[in-house]
Amino acid sequence: MTQLLLGSEVAARLGAGLRARIVALARPPGLAVVRVGEDPASALYVKRKAERASKLGFVGRSIVLPATVEESTLLQIVGELNADPAIDGILVQLPLPAHIRAERVLDALDPAKDVDGFHPENLGRLAQGRPRFVPCTPLGVMALLREGGVALAGARALVIGRSNIVGRPMAMLLEQAHATVTVAHSRSLDLPTLVAEADVVVAAVGRARVIEGTWIKPGAAVIDVGINHDSSGQLCGDVDEASALGRAGLLTPVPGGVGPMTIAMLMHNTVASAEARQRA
Ligand code: NAD
Repeated sequence: MTQLLLGSEVAARLGAGLRARIVALARPPGLAVVRVGEDPASALYVKRKAERASKLGFVGRSIVLPATVEESTLLQIVGELNADPAIDGILVQLPLPAHIRAERVLDALDPAKDVDGFHPENLGRLAQGRPRFVPCTPLGVMALLREGGVALAGARALVIGRSNIVGRPMAMLLEQAHATVTVAHSRSLDLPTLVAEADVVVAAVGRARVIEGTWIKPGAAVIDVGINHDSSGQLCGDVDEASALGRAGLLTPVPGGVGPMTIAMLMHNTVASAEARQRA
């Protein structure tokens, strides 16, 4: 039997806990979301984040810039948000158009407002095991694993994908939770064998259903981060859910699994930033 772990339900419960912390603040948390261009997926993610923030009573600021915006203009806006005392968290939705150097923009964020956890200072702090803001998706995956009662100490964990926003910080968090971690990527050999050896699999590849159920160790916890569309346009994850069901011990669906947790962790990080800034 596979337990389907619904991130949507876990996220709703976490939201209730956050409300109590927001009420205790002297002023509501302020979250600024910057989006460049009209990529429909980015527009949808930003909309969901803004809706959640608004429901929780945040002060939201949404800045949408044309795809042709100059890098210097974006950097100036980031500078203004850094200096704005009403803003506790700044999120620049990725990916950015090719003419803008994403590293320049991320480097320009005030690390104390970088609620996505992508600034090198925050990733460096995480690598050293003294995190401030942890990237929201891996943080959400850790919360899901906790919720599912998955024992990590000594477990063999496989992270598939090595991006700075998902795979790499994910591997750090699992290692800090005392799992024995393997990271697979596009040049890895024999992915089926790596999957078969893992008690915990976190798939962050971005390819529809590349991980087949028959590869999965019976009873393993499988967290599917991928958001893809298959050839018929249907939304799906990196894991072939149909063949993983009945084989995995625990599985997160797509949609309704990791996605809502990413948003919940963004809200968590922004509230934590507001608390820290109001204490200072
Ligand atoms: P990315 O493209 O930056 O990284 C993908 C990684 O997969 C790379 O490190 C690459 O080496 C690896 N990879 C590619 N092909 C592979 C293969 N055949 N075998 C093994 N590894 C392979 O993507 P990302 O930003 O890390 O996102 C990964 C997926 O997660 C995407 O589908 C993205 O949409 C999704 N995502 C979901 C959420 C969420 O909230 N649910 C958040 C962020 C990203």
